[in-house]
Amino acid sequence: MSKRFLRIADTLYHWVFPRVIEQDAETQTLLRNIYPTINWQKVRFYEGLPWFIAGSYVNAIVLPATWNRQYIHAYFAVYQPDTLAGLSTIIHEGFHVLQYQDLGKGIGFMRRFMVCYLADYFQLFFKNILKKGSQVANRIAYEKHPMEIPAYTQDRYFSQHCLRHKMRIPSTQLPSQLIHTHCGYSPQLAFPFLLMGFLMTLLFMLIKPFIEVFFLIIAAPMYVIGRIF
Ligand SMILES: [Zn+2]
Repeated sequence: MSKRFLRIADTLYHWVFPRVIEQDAETQTLLRNIYPTINWQKVRFYEGLPWFIAGSYVNAIVLPATWNRQYIHAYFAVYQPDTLAGLSTIIHEGFHVLQYQDLGKGIGFMRRFMVCYLADYFQLFFKNILKKGSQVANRIAYEKHPMEIPAYTQDRYFSQHCLRHKMRIPSTQLPSQLIHTHCGYSPQLAFPFLLMGFLMTLLFMLIKPFIEVFFLIIAAPMYVIGRIF
């Protein structure tokens, strides 16, 4: 019985706070070579998606730390640096980390990246929704997103490079097209969408910590009961 309580508490806790990934040295070196200007001390990788997108089609996402001004967290549904597809996803998310860093610090979720990312999404979505319907507009808003296009170009180029050279991790002699010191993003956003992006980020920034504390309040007694009995 006590083991059951401990297991539930553990599952609940890690559903809210996914497990930190200890990166292997090869992947670390590769990321540092491809994105040499990123301060990797401020980046953490996690196995498991955040609770609010668990079960969605998303297989990885980069988000700001909830309780910090600088830390950036990359979450992976499945972390697989030993496969080409898995490694390409890591390279893709690395590009988003670069975008976060270039766009500056903030408070918790309130980062310029978050505001611009959501604003760009809304701008594309509402441009297409009347003519094409919500499903297609949603797809276009993701595929034509100005922050996604270079990230996908990067991971595609990385995959092609690996396949061409029949090597899994080409840490040395990387082609210059793969190395990025800046993300190159400059926002071109109409004010209403910028405002929407800001308000969404603000709402999420304020609500998320309370929801997570609520989950912790449920998990804590289960943990205590599991330890005592
Ligand atoms: Zn992406």
